Amino acid sequence: MTASINSCRVSVKGDYQRIYGDEPCGAAAISLVSRVKRFLEMWTIDNKFRDGLTEGIPCQAASDLNLDSEDFRPLWDPECRVDEPSKVLNQYVSFCNEKLLMRDRMRDLDGRPDHAVFRQWRQRQINRFFRQADIRVASAVVHAPFSVELNQGCSVGCWFCGVDAPKLGDIFSYTDENKLLWKDLLRSLHQSIGFGAKSGFCYWATDPLDNPDYEKFIQDFKNEFGRFPQTTTAQPLKHLERVRDLLRMTSGAEKTINRFSVLSINSMRQIHQNFTPEELIHVELVPQNREALAVKANAGRARGKFKQSALADQETSSGTIACVSGFLINMVRGSIKLITPVPASDQWPLGYQVFGEEFFTDSQSFDAACQKLFGKMKIRLFPDDQISIDSDFECVLAGAQIFLRQNKFTVKLSEANDFTLLSSLVELLTTSPLTVLETVIRLEGIATPPVTIHLIDSLFRAGILNYDG
Ligand code: SF4
Repeated sequence: MTASINSCRVSVKGDYQRIYGDEPCGAAAISLVSRVKRFLEMWTIDNKFRDGLTEGIPCQAASDLNLDSEDFRPLWDPECRVDEPSKVLNQYVSFCNEKLLMRDRMRDLDGRPDHAVFRQWRQRQINRFFRQADIRVASAVVHAPFSVELNQGCSVGCWFCGVDAPKLGDIFSYTDENKLLWKDLLRSLHQSIGFGAKSGFCYWATDPLDNPDYEKFIQDFKNEFGRFPQTTTAQPLKHLERVRDLLRMTSGAEKTINRFSVLSINSMRQIHQNFTPEELIHVELVPQNREALAVKANAGRARGKFKQSALADQETSSGTIACVSGFLINMVRGSIKLITPVPASDQWPLGYQVFGEEFFTDSQSFDAACQKLFGKMKIRLFPDDQISIDSDFECVLAGAQIFLRQNKFTVKLSEANDFTLLSSLVELLTTSPLTVLETVIRLEGIATPPVTIHLIDSLFRAGILNYDG
């Protein structure tokens, strides 16, 4: 969704400074990266700015930022290729790559629960979503283990809201009683999920800044997990001094990457007027205005609007902005749901599947609710469970290796070494859904039940089997 992601099609050669490394980064590199970032924000968000560049009109914004836009032309001109990237290009692309690596690390390592069942369930959801969604959408989803809503609803009311946030209602204030409950919940999540709990965050169908005590809640989060959670707000201009303090608070050694949703070109200009490029080096501007070079996720309110208009044809099936495979907690309602991202559908219009919901009033009932939801994390199939495989899957033999292929998605199963069994299983389950028991019986002429069950289990864990749970 950001200019920085696209820029990574350029290869890096030569020296660059790490912005997120352990060593402090020089002020010159930070300034250079933040100014290029600002230029690309204008290019992504402002159509007139893009038109001017394309038509070759001398770029005043580049001069104002003390940049020569030709030095990094491949970042904004899709036709431009270079053999020898400039120093500016190298530095900026390496900055983007660092952020992409941190995102991948959060999904594959830092966000992994210690809780064995949770870990296995979450990994199956990650595998399944990579298969179902557009690769760029799937790569961007970190599958955080939990998120917490500190309000009921949102005051902003965006027409496209991918999670269809209701109007702002009650707010969970930082009272003495609520503070104790909050700290107990964080401790409980830390104990039950483990190290990966630090990848949680504190908003969903809410704007965090609607809660006047938000900063107090995330300070407790930092005290429990050792890091501040990411903050995404559409209201940086409404709360300028608060946001400035929040950025200072979260930009310490850990350099939390926060996000501003940009609802109009004018908002972007005001954000640029109020914050220096360097102040926003760790803040991604998420373009949400109509003129921006970004496709809206086909989920929530946007899905409803797209359905009413011809825009529906332009959207992909990868519609979701959900990024949690785990618990969605609402402190006002005292509710906790188990969810995972899915492409939005009539069944799951908000782009996430809900496996169950429990309620709590205190830390004991919160623990009990979590235990019930851990019990809904399915990690093995039973004989009566109905399974199927998408009809466009095929089994391919290349030399001695067996692959399963679906469109551009290819997977090699280390457990599968019997081509006849795997291809028969795929043919059977792509034709019609069957129970596990029926599948085993139908394949008895090819393999013994334990061998078939082992293969079914491998496909289940790899997220290849369709199973509604
Ligand atoms: S997109 Fe975010 S800011 Fe906009 S209505 Fe939804 S939750 Fe609120």
